[in-house]
Amino acid sequence: SAHAALGDAYEAQARSAPERLDAFWMPFTANRQFKQHSRLLASARDMHYTTVDGRQVLDGVAGLWCCNAGHGRTRIIEAVSRQIATLDFAPTFQMGHPLPFVLAERLAAIAPDPLKHVFFTNSGSESVDTALKIALAYHRARGEGQRTRLIGREKGYHGVGFGGMSVGGMVNNRKFFGPMLPGVDHLRHTLDISRNAFSRGLPKHGAELADDLERLVQLHDASTIAAVIVEPVSGSAGVVLPPEGYLKRLREICDKHGILLIFDEVITGYGRVGNAFAAQRFGVTPDMITTAKGLTNGSVPMGAVFVSNAIHDAFMQGPEGVIDLFHGYTYSGHPLACAAALATLDTYAEEKLFDKALDIGAFWEESIHALRDLPHVIDIRNFGLIGAIELAPREGKPGSRAFDVFTKCFHDKDLLIRTTGDVVALSPPLILDKSHIGQIFGRLAEAIRETA
Ligand code: PMP
Repeated sequence: SAHAALGDAYEAQARSAPERLDAFWMPFTANRQFKQHSRLLASARDMHYTTVDGRQVLDGVAGLWCCNAGHGRTRIIEAVSRQIATLDFAPTFQMGHPLPFVLAERLAAIAPDPLKHVFFTNSGSESVDTALKIALAYHRARGEGQRTRLIGREKGYHGVGFGGMSVGGMVNNRKFFGPMLPGVDHLRHTLDISRNAFSRGLPKHGAELADDLERLVQLHDASTIAAVIVEPVSGSAGVVLPPEGYLKRLREICDKHGILLIFDEVITGYGRVGNAFAAQRFGVTPDMITTAKGLTNGSVPMGAVFVSNAIHDAFMQGPEGVIDLFHGYTYSGHPLACAAALATLDTYAEEKLFDKALDIGAFWEESIHALRDLPHVIDIRNFGLIGAIELAPREGKPGSRAFDVFTKCFHDKDLLIRTTGDVVALSPPLILDKSHIGQIFGRLAEAIRETA
């Protein structure tokens, strides 16, 4: 039929290497370099991608920290396919359809108490900007509209919106774009190789860095501060772990001063550290949690912000019939995304993937730390199914050792990893078994040796 022929035509396009790579301006990419040595993926199933030239590449990073259940999962494929044929789009402004209500309830059930309300977005960046705006509007709704200051951290990554960029702390993501939001401060980051190199799991030293927040309270007065946002475990800055006790201390200082605490769990959410959320693993409950990525197993763009009952209820005090939050996206609660998320949550639950991440974590830790004597390795960090290998910076030549390892892994070792700065980062699908872990670190070790 014409329908099938059209499908075949799209499929052929998706599987063949394009003749010209010029028109697509790729995000966060050295475009000219990439277009000389492209890396194109055509299909994916379980733990592997297949490249356009037919090679099987082992996925060491769940795509981009998102495909926690691995690739090509039947339940998700079927749910999205059925959904697009049933209800392709419906507005959620002053209108609705059942799916986001059902999904929000399912999500609330796995979220820590009392974060039982959910606002839907389409990405991590949108989740962050949403949470920051809710924090500001919350204080205003309670008559504390002077609380406008936002606090992030050095090395923080909170997406690329103006809000997330402003509270973020990665210099290259900020320096090209002029003035940021006013009234933002940054706590110091907690990466301290001099004291904590080769820690297994959480580093021992550095909980006192949380006291930076007390200093900012002394400087500005608590009555001007709206919220603090941190990643419980950061990914993009090269995997930065919270020292033991750090997050708890941050929570205590926030409580003391009426400051909201936001956890950005865009990478840690949905099982990566062995619980639904890192908040649960660390036993520290923030006032909001931002998520995306693993929510739909990466299959359809979607984000979700978890909001405490107290914050939500503060918006429900005004006169009925007046919009309570002037914020939202055309695609908030999109039917395809909701269908994908529901099927994803079912997959996670049925296969007990969060528990699996916890169970296999000890073997993951052993395996990654076995690489410590390889050339140029100056630190190894791990938590849950996250890993990082930091290589000594290379002077006098553009690029980094980590980038060389990444390209070597992809082209010669059939292994997909991530690189940021001098760090090789790993975050495999939670479905992996011990033999995959052996393959990941075996191939990575060869690549580190061969590029040294
Ligand atoms: N926050 C964190 C902690 C992230 O790691 C990311 C993406 N890696 C984002 C926000 C931004 O998410 P997105 O790219 O979906 O906008």
